[in-house]
Amino acid sequence: IPALLPNMPVGPTGDSSFSPYAGSTQFDQLPISRKMKDGLGSKYTVMSEIQRASLPHSLCGRDVLGAAKTGSGKTLAFLIPVLEKLYRARWGPEDGVGSIIISPARELAMQLFNELKKVGKYHNFSAGLLIGGRKDVDTEKECVNNLNILVCTPGRLLQHMDETPNFDCSQLQILVLDEADRILDTGFKKALNAIISQLPKQRQTLLFSATQTKSVQDLARLSLKDPEYLSVHAES
Ligand code: ADP
Ligand code: MG
Repeated sequence: IPALLPNMPVGPTGDSSFSPYAGSTQFDQLPISRKMKDGLGSKYTVMSEIQRASLPHSLCGRDVLGAAKTGSGKTLAFLIPVLEKLYRARWGPEDGVGSIIISPARELAMQLFNELKKVGKYHNFSAGLLIGGRKDVDTEKECVNNLNILVCTPGRLLQHMDETPNFDCSQLQILVLDEADRILDTGFKKALNAIISQLPKQRQTLLFSATQTKSVQDLARLSLKDPEYLSVHAES
């Protein structure tokens, strides 16, 4: 733990966790791979506020709770650390499920899956969209163990955990809850509890939402480790 220096970057909430990449404004200043930079391409160059605040920490492997309003770029704030975490771990086809991204709604899951396919096109990971009512769950069951990144709704993920033979997420590296405030809502509470109880505790966890989710109970359930609380309210 570095000593507190006068000019050390300090997070918006007043904590003092150090990241050498705090203060970066462009994606290409971050410690990310060539593949990631190519995936971002010319469409994404300057980071949005929530990306600037969170990526220096999430790319260091820290747990992050990020809050920023709709349209502020939260998707890339978690897709980049997901891709880079697995890339650095040299994750391959044989390694199975390395990341799970949970979204509260099918439509949102589809959108972020499409974004993942675009920015992750130079990484060689397999990704699957597991959402209810889309296609036959039996077809999914045959391939789900060969996927590296799962984008899913809570109900469908739980269904696989309960029903799919040999469904294995014991090697999970990084868990993401998108729209965490909505997922942590009572509607998904039971499903989420059941999911979390089956995931390894040794992992990185990223939570993003439009509002800051502060409930101590919720955080305890997710077994976050010394998370960075990052809240961005201003227009970016
Ligand atoms: P949120 O999840 O916070 O509601 P999104 O991740 O869906 O926001 O992003 C909203 C829009 O902003 C998307 O169209 C996305 O492509 C765009 N976007 C995100 N980050 C950047 C960026 N750094 N530069 C330019 N456009 C961005
Ligand atoms: Mg979003």
